[in-house]
Amino acid sequence: MNYDVVIIGSGITGASIARELSKYKLSIAVIDKASELPAGASRANSSMIHGGFDDKPGTMKAKFCVPGNKLWHKLKSELDVHLNECGSYVCAFNDDEVKHLELLLAQGKTNGSPGVEIISGDKLREKEPNVSGEIVAALWSPEAGIINNFEAVNAMIESAELNGAKLFLETQATGLLLDNGKVRGITTNKGDFLAPVVINAGGVHSGEIAAWAGDTSFKIIPTKGEYFLLDRTTQGFIHSFLFACPSKAGKGITVLQTAEGNLMSGPTATEQDDPEDRTTTPEGLAEVLKGARKLVPNFPVNMNITTFAGVRANTESGDFEISALKSPRGFVNVAGIKSPGFTSSPAIAEYVAELLKEELSDVITLTPNDKFIPERKNIPRFLYLDMDARKKLAENDPAYAQIVCRCETVTEGQVLEAIRRGARTVTAVKMMTRAGTGRCQGGFCCPRVAEILSRELGIPLDEVTRHGGESKLLVGKTKEFLLKKGEAH
Ligand SMILES: Cc1cc2nc3c(=O)[nH]c(=O)nc-3n(C[C@H](O)[C@H](O)[C@H](O)COP(=O)(O)OP(=O)(O)OC[C@H]3O[C@@H](n4cnc5c(N)ncnc54)[C@H](O)[C@@H]3O)c2cc1C
Repeated sequence: MNYDVVIIGSGITGASIARELSKYKLSIAVIDKASELPAGASRANSSMIHGGFDDKPGTMKAKFCVPGNKLWHKLKSELDVHLNECGSYVCAFNDDEVKHLELLLAQGKTNGSPGVEIISGDKLREKEPNVSGEIVAALWSPEAGIINNFEAVNAMIESAELNGAKLFLETQATGLLLDNGKVRGITTNKGDFLAPVVINAGGVHSGEIAAWAGDTSFKIIPTKGEYFLLDRTTQGFIHSFLFACPSKAGKGITVLQTAEGNLMSGPTATEQDDPEDRTTTPEGLAEVLKGARKLVPNFPVNMNITTFAGVRANTESGDFEISALKSPRGFVNVAGIKSPGFTSSPAIAEYVAELLKEELSDVITLTPNDKFIPERKNIPRFLYLDMDARKKLAENDPAYAQIVCRCETVTEGQVLEAIRRGARTVTAVKMMTRAGTGRCQGGFCCPRVAEILSRELGIPLDEVTRHGGESKLLVGKTKEFLLKKGEAH
């Protein structure tokens, strides 16, 4: 358990840092308490690769958003992830809001956001006929995009692993090991991990983790965002990402088409004490629906297939908290990474590598890894292949001829490949293949995926879990259960 660097948290921040540091000759451990990735905010968010006009110049968010956006356009093919390069619109309903668009436009230009411009409501409706007739103008950001966040996190960590980093799931950091004012490693539920550099990428828990190093200079304010996700038959209702004009409460309710073609709307912004509370509420969803209908009056909420919520790691300053502490030496915070954190993550990772070189050269040396492989291939996406490509796959491996998830056309071949790449739970298979993300939300494929996991992992079916721990899918046989209750014959 001896490493050069230990990264706590494998959301998009920790995963991007792991990949960036794997460009150097370093032994890297990434630990995450979750059973599958992504788990925290990186699982439940709007997945927008922001254009970079929304962040106040001079902030860390502004510093990393535009460079992060540019890097994602490159990483799309390098990591083989789905990024819909569709652009985004901020919609104005009156003169005051148009003035706000002008502010955003100026801010975008200062931040280096390419191609931002204000267009008329009519021009917007030519592109997006289902938006409100009351929208008078919109800020168009052509470089914005929408990413498949499940794919992106898994791709980033797989690429880091391909280049030597080690991922430890179900491993919870519990404390920091120090020696004479220097970092020596961390304690976890799976034993100690020793390293002279520890990077805190713990998302909504990053405040608690920073406090282990005696840094209480910032506090995380967990802020929930709730969403509606609609069936993929709504594809094309909206083609891009629509923001309302931002208010004090944040970017407001948006309407978007996900990278996979589902219509989606959210998020709310509700501060809460519990960092792990991801429940949706009638009040929150009512607010989302109101906001969605303002932008898109006929928002087809009857096509809703699920609701979900994510929790932002907000800070009092509203900005990211990224620094190498003077003491203890070797402790690096990459904390409070709220929106546009997904967008910014590859640029943040580059900055962290520079921090290690410039500020921690006495504890770590970064020598380039000339064997670094930038490319990583995704599991084949059967749904998007033409008939010839499907046939070829199935001829090579008959498991690709067995459909497991009907809604998303996911084959047994894909599930087997996800297991080969480390999936151990039904949710991990879902994150890596999309089995269970469709209209029936796993009603059809969940038992099939569980059977395949049981067979391939060599464990009894009732040991298969939804997402690790005690989340078993089966508690026993119905007949045995009823016999116990004295109700079976
Ligand atoms: C509602 C919402 C909408 C958003 N929309 C956008 C958007 O459209 N575009 C955008 O760019 N950004 C968006 N964001 C922000 C973006 O999602 C986050 O900035 C980003 O996902 C943060 O990644 P992270 O890795 O820092 O945190 P997380 O993804 O939360 O990862 C932290 C990880 O640390 C692990 N962890 C925590 N404590 C421990 C411990 N003690 N031991 C081991 N592991 C631990 C967790 O299990 C988790 O996997 C949104 C966020 C939310 C919540």
